[in-house]
Amino acid sequence: MKEPARILVVGGGYVGMYTALHLQRKLKRALRQGDAQVIVVDPEPYMTYQPFLPEAAAGSISPRHVVVPLRRTLPGCQVVIGEVTAIDHAKRTASITTLASREEANGAIEISYDELVLAPGSVSRTLPIPGLADHGIGFKTVEEAIGLRNHVLGQLDIASSTRDPAVRDAALTFVFVGGGYAGVEALGELEDMARYAVRYYHNIVPEDLRWVLVEATGRILPEVGEELGRYTVRELRGRNIDVRLETRLESYEDRVAVLSDGSRFPTRTLVWTAGVKPHPVLSAVDLPKNDRGKLPCTAELRVDGAEHAWAAGDAAAVPDLTADQPGKECAPNAQHAVRQARVLAENVIASLRGEPLRNYEHAYAGSVASLGLHKGVAYLYGRKLRGYPAWAIHRAYHLSRMPTFNRKARVLAEWTLSGLFKREIVSLGSLENPRAEFELAAGTGRHPEAS
Ligand SMILES: Cc1cc2nc3c(=O)[nH]c(=O)nc-3n(C[C@H](O)[C@H](O)[C@H](O)COP(=O)(O)OP(=O)(O)OC[C@H]3O[C@@H](n4cnc5c(N)ncnc54)[C@H](O)[C@@H]3O)c2cc1C
Repeated sequence: MKEPARILVVGGGYVGMYTALHLQRKLKRALRQGDAQVIVVDPEPYMTYQPFLPEAAAGSISPRHVVVPLRRTLPGCQVVIGEVTAIDHAKRTASITTLASREEANGAIEISYDELVLAPGSVSRTLPIPGLADHGIGFKTVEEAIGLRNHVLGQLDIASSTRDPAVRDAALTFVFVGGGYAGVEALGELEDMARYAVRYYHNIVPEDLRWVLVEATGRILPEVGEELGRYTVRELRGRNIDVRLETRLESYEDRVAVLSDGSRFPTRTLVWTAGVKPHPVLSAVDLPKNDRGKLPCTAELRVDGAEHAWAAGDAAAVPDLTADQPGKECAPNAQHAVRQARVLAENVIASLRGEPLRNYEHAYAGSVASLGLHKGVAYLYGRKLRGYPAWAIHRAYHLSRMPTFNRKARVLAEWTLSGLFKREIVSLGSLENPRAEFELAAGTGRHPEAS
């Protein structure tokens, strides 16, 4: 009997989930008849819709609704919850650590494949800044977004209850490093949320909060162009946010953020959103990498110089065929990732069938960014919008892009309800320590509030 063609998809994010979704649709019959197999591996059982993380941090969307369950969305595929730790492409095998293999202490399992789709995305690009790795936090995952929300609200509680002015100042100071859309949107949404929340604190006023945005270059939000970037700086400064351009974080030791302009901010919150780098798992893959550690790809989304290996998204260097200058690559964003996934799936199928492949080509359409409730900027097909209209377009655009009707409906319902009722302002930080109460009852622990 003929062996089924096995396609291994590493990563269930934008590229991984959408590639598997297209493969599932186009190979429906082959998958049913056992002529093909699609295996999707991801450490998490969900795809994260990252553009909604700032709204999740602000409490406008609940965390469950910014993620898409892989098992329900991909019933025709085999979903493995685990981490690919190494790939021996010469032998066409991948080593995977699953929750079970950790329990059984058996080490990694091996899966063989015929076609490999590599889409592990990116991780925060950190620098060797003293103290950063110990106390900084990124903003790439739903856990980080919700952790940050709880943390910010927790700081308001600390500030409200302390008698020490230094503790109060540090609790009410929030430093964000990196002025791309992740940093600016996260800061914009959280500042807006905290400004609202303090009306319920008897001894904090919005002017007590200090928000600082540190950006190494001379502009922020390059995704929306120079003019809207300048507008965003004015907008944020108008809200009393301290935007420091051409400034770098030098250190964050003992919870004091020291900047290159000499200023020092004692703070308990340092959010690092200064760019991304390809996922480190690529170092354990025997495929070519470029000088930035990305997988060099052809316009057909094959890994250049390798057979039966495909890649796209943040981990891949894909030539931008629409650019004026030769050698330019597609930017690492969702706009490209989703479109690349479709071409990638079609090309994998074409290659299995011995048909010609097609090139990936997409002219950048622009970007939208939210700066808090009812505030935003948008640059779409050459049109520049700001304020409420931009914010409304941001919401409409992302709602239309949110995968599955189920998630669209839930997000819309949440927005509608939050328009009718007051904003949520509770910190559920205790969720991160669910055994605390039981340990207290059993006499083996201390109540977290006591620490
Ligand atoms: C806060 C924020 C806001 C953003 N807003 C926008 C926006 O408005 N517009 C826009 O175009 N882009 C936006 N982006 C960028 C966009 O989300 C990314 O470019 C996109 O997610 C890249 O897709 P990807 O599939 O390459 O990676 P991801 O979507 O990150 O998926 C990678 C997947 O691989 C999995 N993985 C990692 N390692 C392994 C391993 N060893 N084994 C198995 N699986 C693994 C991960 O768990 C993850 O699920 C934003 C990003 C962030 C962080």
